[in-house]
Order: sequence, then structure tokens, then C-alpha cells
Amino acid sequence: MTIADCDIKFLRGIGPKRAELLDKNLGIKTYRDMLYHFPTHYVDRTTIRHISEFTGDDMPAVQVRGRFVSFNMIGEGAKMRLVALFTDKTGTMEVVWFQRAKAMRELYRTHTDYTVFGKPTFFNGRWSMVHPEIDPPGALLARSGFRGVYPLTEQLRNRGFSSRTFAGAAAEILAGAQTLPETLPPYIIEKYRLLDLRTALCAIHNPATMDILDKARFRLKFEELFYLQLDIQRYARRRSSSTQGFRFGRVGEFFNNFYNQFLPFPLTGAQKRVIREIRADMGAGRQMNRLLQGDVGSGKTLVALMTMLIALDNGFQACLMAPTEILATQHYETIRELVAPMGVNVRLLTGSTRKKERDIIDSQLRDGTLHILIGTHAVIEDRVRFRNLGYVVIDEQHRFGVAQRARLWTKNTLAPHVLVMTATPIPRTLAMTVYGDLDVSVIDELPPGRKPVQTLLRYDENRLLTYQGIARQLKMGRQVYIVYPLIKENEKLDLQSLEEGYENIREIYRDYRVAYVHGKLRPEEKDYQMSIFASGEAQILVSTTVIEVGVNVPNATTMLIENAERFGLSQLHQLRGRVGRGEGQSYCILMTKRKITGDTRKRLELMTSTTNGFEIAEADMRMRGPGDIEGTMQSGIPFDLHIANLATDGQIVQLARDAACDVLDADPDLASPVNAVLVRQLSQLNSRIRDWSKIS
Ligand code: ADP
Ligand code: MG
Repeated sequence: MTIADCDIKFLRGIGPKRAELLDKNLGIKTYRDMLYHFPTHYVDRTTIRHISEFTGDDMPAVQVRGRFVSFNMIGEGAKMRLVALFTDKTGTMEVVWFQRAKAMRELYRTHTDYTVFGKPTFFNGRWSMVHPEIDPPGALLARSGFRGVYPLTEQLRNRGFSSRTFAGAAAEILAGAQTLPETLPPYIIEKYRLLDLRTALCAIHNPATMDILDKARFRLKFEELFYLQLDIQRYARRRSSSTQGFRFGRVGEFFNNFYNQFLPFPLTGAQKRVIREIRADMGAGRQMNRLLQGDVGSGKTLVALMTMLIALDNGFQACLMAPTEILATQHYETIRELVAPMGVNVRLLTGSTRKKERDIIDSQLRDGTLHILIGTHAVIEDRVRFRNLGYVVIDEQHRFGVAQRARLWTKNTLAPHVLVMTATPIPRTLAMTVYGDLDVSVIDELPPGRKPVQTLLRYDENRLLTYQGIARQLKMGRQVYIVYPLIKENEKLDLQSLEEGYENIREIYRDYRVAYVHGKLRPEEKDYQMSIFASGEAQILVSTTVIEVGVNVPNATTMLIENAERFGLSQLHQLRGRVGRGEGQSYCILMTKRKITGDTRKRLELMTSTTNGFEIAEADMRMRGPGDIEGTMQSGIPFDLHIANLATDGQIVQLARDAACDVLDADPDLASPVNAVLVRQLSQLNSRIRDWSKIS
């Protein structure tokens, strides 16, 4: 128990009522929570801006100095607001209070100089500031220093909390805690030349210069990421040292035969490299847990197959699991065609496998004559028993829970090796964190001869031209995807527009057959619709994002994405990966309404300018923050980050990881007295986890 654990209600000026509000709004309970509620940005207190210089639709918060010209109470009762005109001689803006209007009217007067601080917005033809902070008349400009701008909720603002309240509270706590216990061991502070904790906290709340602010930020980010990495690495080391695995010591006939006689095309350099990595890992005697990342179309299936052959060469069975029936079937057909001539026995198990086939599968799995089982979730049902399962490949992992992965591990005396394949390009620094306990292999090269997909941005009003372009592709014998958004909150409306779209398309392209899929169809119906598109009987597929993952129809060269502005970048990239899989030039048309925000335009334009999945993922993460990257993150981070940003602090992530590894190399159990502080901090961080849904 240190002063940092003190209940926030005991702080001067807070008290029980305000403490409750702080807890409810920001989860601030203790002095420590208050100290770690950091400003998001800073305003130079020495700089006064002129109203006449306000520009752009996204002004930062600024300081203005001037006088009130008039005050007007507008509206009645609960809707009453106070609107004041404020001028600094260069221009005039409105200052508006929706809350406590009467009290504010009492507080301020005309003919008196005030410094007003807030975020200007342009509304109804003039600039205004809502609920700005206002320094009392006569307050002198600070000669130096920066004012922190703190994240606040509307409710707190309405109850009179301001950035000044937070800065004041932090200063108060720090003044009363002259000796704040250090949270990093001295040798790390020294090695990375970090500020001590107290100095860093003082500086982050009330920096005298930009330079000290940078140092404070670095110290606090480093600390956060360091503990994150320490936690992950400690877990990873425990797992890898304790989990024994099958040793696949040899490469034999299956692999060599395939490589020499049946390989349909030369492997890319990247495919060769990752096969070597996987092979080495499976031969090391510990259980492999590896993530295989490769952009759409990079040829992950072939890597899966060839490494499964290594399992067979060592006398084991292998299993490939896909997230949907369509995908499982496609994998099954591709793989069977490739290896059937070598006498490899491959079978498909899904929810719709007939009883007779199921019985054959069951008995062959048990007597070991079935080499490779491919399927959906059905393969991990309890009743599925292998004789000797040694290797499991999971395609498109983000559709599977970790728990399901774990269930597989109980299908043999030792856990099988696991390869998780994903086309979601996760930036390296993020992968290091989210998949910290997995080893990572990357296919960073596409097979030769691929023509990059041409991506075009089109507006609703020019729809006709787009339809004509599609007609030309159809006439050439190509196939076309037309994709509609289907977002949960909007499901009803979305389904409606999907149906209308479908009718519309059938009307326009009367000479062609149009297939139609969405997640709400019965599985048999969905499969039927997909299969007529895959076989070419239908030339057009109208669908939701159910086709996002894995579907392979090389003759489909055009994709039209409706309401493209509603999709995330990574999702657009996944969708686009369905075209550009054959010889022909492929196109992806992003259809959007004309009126979109600047950010949305930027996102869509990025899609038109690059097909590099990693670039897109990095940009996506920068624009939306790592928490949003589709699904990949949920199971990820063990505790909240206050200041570090996985998207932009890549270098510090790397540094922190190296530091954590050094510590564990020297003292794996953190038993040395100098590391006692690490153990204490880790358990404290872990006990502070608020969002239990993040724990998987
Ligand atoms: P993904 O990584 O998206 O799962 P696939 O494994 O489906 O990619 O491969 C995409 C396409 O590329 C398939 O049609 C496959 O046959 C082809 N392909 C894979 N490897 C190569 C290669 N080395 N050379 C040429 N084509 C390849
Ligand atoms: Mg695939």
C-alpha cells in the first residue's frame, strides 16, 4: 500500500461525490489512476491564436484572448442555453453553454479581458466554442509551459470538470508524494536512460518544455510496453519449455515424390523459406505453434499441403480446418487433385457429410488409413478420433476461438503441431504483441505473373458507366462479384438493399445467370448458390461479405463493392483478394455516394493506390487505432495501454521486447532481488485488468 493506492475521494477538492463521478466516467478510483490519466495533447500556453486565423474543419483546441460583447439566454427550461459573443478584435465567435447557463451568466461580464481555451467549430456560418475553459480576469499568461488537454466525458464536463481540474489534481498528488516508489529496476532506467518515475509524471502533466515532455512520454510508453512484453514473453517461455511435441525428424517419400513429380508450379522463394521454417520447427521436439501470414493469393494452401506431407512421412495423420463449408470443400478438391495420384488418402468432413461417408471416415481415422482430414468445425467434435494426429492446420484463424484451437490438442497423447494461416496482414509490431506466444512465418511474395488488381473509385451517379464496363467483362466470358455491406446494427435495411440490388442486377443483365448468397440463407442453399458460381453456370454473384475469405474462382475478374465507404480498409482488401487470381486483368470498383468525409475519401484512395496488404493494414491501424482491426485483436492484449500506441510506437515496442527478453534471459523466474519490483508490478497490472471480455 503506497500513497498511490489512496482513494481519490480523499484528494483535496474531490470528495465523495466527485470521486463517484470520476469512477463512473473514467474508472478513476485511486491516486494512481488519476496520475495515469494523461493528457492526449498539449497547448502552448504562451501562444494566443487569433479568431481571424481559424481555418479548416478540424481545428485543434486553442487559446484566444479577448472580451465578451453580449450574453443571450436562449430557450426555456431544460433546453435553456447561454450564447455569448466573444471578440478578440480580429474576429468574433460564439461561446455557448448548454449546462449551468444561469451560473455562467453570473460569472462572466463584458469589458473584462479573459483567456478562453477550447476547440473551435464552424457552425451555421460562424465559429463557436462550446463550454470552453476560461481563465479568470487578470490571470497572467504563463511565461512558459504547456497546458495538457485531458480526455473527458460529456457528463464530467457538465459537472464542471475541466482539463484544469485534472492538471490540478495531478499536481496536488505529486506535491504530496515526494518519494514515489520507482516502478522499474535501476539497471533498466540506467540502460535505457529513462527519466525517473516522479519526474516523468510531473512532466507529462505539466511539461515545462517539449523536450522534457518527449522524455516523459518515452519513459512512460517504454514502461507500459516493457511490462506488456515481459508478461507475454514469460508466458511464451513457460509454454515452449513445458510443451513437448512430436519430433518430425525426416522428410520422406510423400514430400519428395510430390516435390519432384507433382508440384504444379515452382515454389516461390517465400514459400520455400516458410516451408523450411516450419520443417525445422516440427523437427525440434517441442510442440509447434506457428502463425503463417501471407497476403491473399500468396499460396498458403500449397505450404499447408507440403508440410502436411512431412507429417505423413513421419507416420502421422494431418488435419486441415477451414472456417466455412465452401472453403473446406475448395481445399479438399484442390488438395485431393494434387495428391491423389500419389496414393494419399484425403477426405472431407463437414456438417453435411452423409452418414455413410462419416462412418468410413471414422473407421479410417481410427485404423490410420486416412492420411489427411479436411473439414469445418466438424473435425473438432468429440466423436472424431484420430489414430495418430500429429499436425493441424487452421485456415483463417480469426474465425475461430482460441478455445476451439485448444480442444484439438487433446486428440493425441501429445499435442499436435499447429499452424494457423491468416491473410489478415498484421503489422509486425502488432503481431509481436497479439501473437506474442506464437512464432510467425511470413510469405511476402506473390506467385509470378500476377497482374495487380486495378482499383477504381466510382460515384453513384456514374453507375451506368460502371454497369457497361461490367457488361464488357461478361461478354468476354468473365465472372463478376457484386458485394453489399451487411452490418449487424443495420441488418434489416442492409438485407433489403441487397435484395433490391439482386433484382436490379437480374433486370440489367438478363442474358446472364445471377447467384445470390448471404449469411442468412440456409447452408444448403448457400452452398448451391456458391457452387453454381464456382462452376461458371452463374456469371454473376451478388453477395454480402460471406465471400470475404478464401473463395477461389480465377475466372472472376471484376468485383463491384457497393457502399464501399462502409467497409474497413482491411475488409476491402480481403474482398478484393477474390479477384486477380487468374491470367486476366482484374478490376475492383469501389462504389460510393459523392458525399463522404475527408477521412473516408483518404481510405478509399489508399485502396486505389496500393495492393500491398501490409501497407493497408498499417494505414488501417493508424487511422482507426489497433483496437479496431477486425477481430484480430480481441484475444490480444492482456492489459490496457494508457499512452503507448501499437500502431505508431513500433520502435519502442521493439526496444521494450528486447529489454524484456534480456531480463528473462538473465533471470527466467525473476527471482533476483533487483527484479522484485518487476514481479510486483506485473501482479499489480494483472489485477487491474478491467475489461474481462478481453481475456480469452
Ligand atoms: P492463399 O494464400 O490466399 O490461400 P492460395 O493458396 O489459394 O492463396 O493460392 C492462390 C493461387 O495461387 C492458387 O490458384 C494457387 O494454385 C496459385 N499458386 C500458389 N502457389 C503458386 C506458385 N508458386 N506459382 C504459381 N501459382 C501459385
Ligand atoms: Mg487460402
